[in-house]
Amino acid sequence: MTDQNHADQGFSTRAIHAGQAFEPVTGAVVPPVHFSSTYAQDGIGGLRNGYEYGRGTNPTRDSLQTQLAALEGGAMALSFSSGLAAEDALLRALLRPGQKVVLGNDAYGGTYRLISKVLGPWGIENQPVDMSDLDAVRAALTGADVPLVWVETPSNPLMKISDIAALAEAAHEAGALLVVDNTFASPYLQQPLSLGADIVVHSTTKYIGGHSDVVGGAVVVKDREVGEKIQFLQFAAGGVSAPMDAFLTTRSLKTLKVRMEAHSDNAEKVAAFLSERPEISAVLYPGLESHPGHEVAARQMKRFGGMVSIRFSGGEQAARTFTEATRVFTLAESLGGIESLVNYPSEMTHASVKGTELEVPADLVRLSVGIEDAEDLLADLDQALAALKG
Ligand SMILES: *Cc1c(COP(=O)(O)O)cnc(C)c1O
Repeated sequence: MTDQNHADQGFSTRAIHAGQAFEPVTGAVVPPVHFSSTYAQDGIGGLRNGYEYGRGTNPTRDSLQTQLAALEGGAMALSFSSGLAAEDALLRALLRPGQKVVLGNDAYGGTYRLISKVLGPWGIENQPVDMSDLDAVRAALTGADVPLVWVETPSNPLMKISDIAALAEAAHEAGALLVVDNTFASPYLQQPLSLGADIVVHSTTKYIGGHSDVVGGAVVVKDREVGEKIQFLQFAAGGVSAPMDAFLTTRSLKTLKVRMEAHSDNAEKVAAFLSERPEISAVLYPGLESHPGHEVAARQMKRFGGMVSIRFSGGEQAARTFTEATRVFTLAESLGGIESLVNYPSEMTHASVKGTELEVPADLVRLSVGIEDAEDLLADLDQALAALKG
């Protein structure tokens, strides 16, 4: 298939074809990876198709950006060297000293660290609020210069659900843009721009990369003018993704739908299994009817994804013992890969927010449910729970 407008096609058709036209010289079905850092000019300033220098543009990165924009339904997408590089470019492009970001009080620890500890000293203020409480969000937007509202849904690691459409309305009423960190859902399960959000950010390290072998990030915007401001900062500051990273991410995106369906199948089984266990005091999974955000999640997500957090009746010690007793679930940071991982957020991914309003409970364990055979995952959880009796 040659490249064309993919807007009316289904998700996987777009994932497989947008930005992926075959190479015209040889017909190679998979576009080659372009490693060149620079491009020959036909006379001074005579650029071929605008290609000049790798920090500005690269065909392999362009191919990923076209694919990402097509999948999130955005006007343009930008690919970065990490999720935090993407967030940094977006924040610095759109904020000025004296302005404030209103963000979820359960935001990813690294996001809060960037906003509070790096951008704070440069004059950017922040106010964490409970994003499921619309009155609290409206109050935070009143009487301050707030260009951005930042929400993560489902959130990491508490699995809280926020209503994207309602937040977009509240943000727009106050003249702010709504940014959604869509890392946990991925564009297959949730389309924030179609629900009214203005900007989507991703750690593509997670579900989009999907195989725990590439670190990357992305920004997708509804409005090209906003995108061009972020693109200028990306070019000026240089946090671009490398060609091989962009290629691996493109390759992974092509199978996003089948992976997210398999992650969701397994996570539903894991959540149901753990809900029956007396060692577990709470299962935080938006697919469970008992989850306070279940109705909103069912409205704005296709399915509920692969992340399940659990709290232990036996408190911190039980959580720690369990975390070190699993065998198929590997103890590691990160999430969203095909292999199952277990993480103890308060000492690992979220250690940076200890002692702040965003601190994570010590009895909480986060599972990134992979796409192994479900029976093996349940057997592993069962034997790890048995270790609590020892
Ligand atoms: C991992 C993560 C990030 C940061 O992305 P990196 O690729 O690690 O820089 C941001 N938001 C969420 C929700 C994440 O899980």
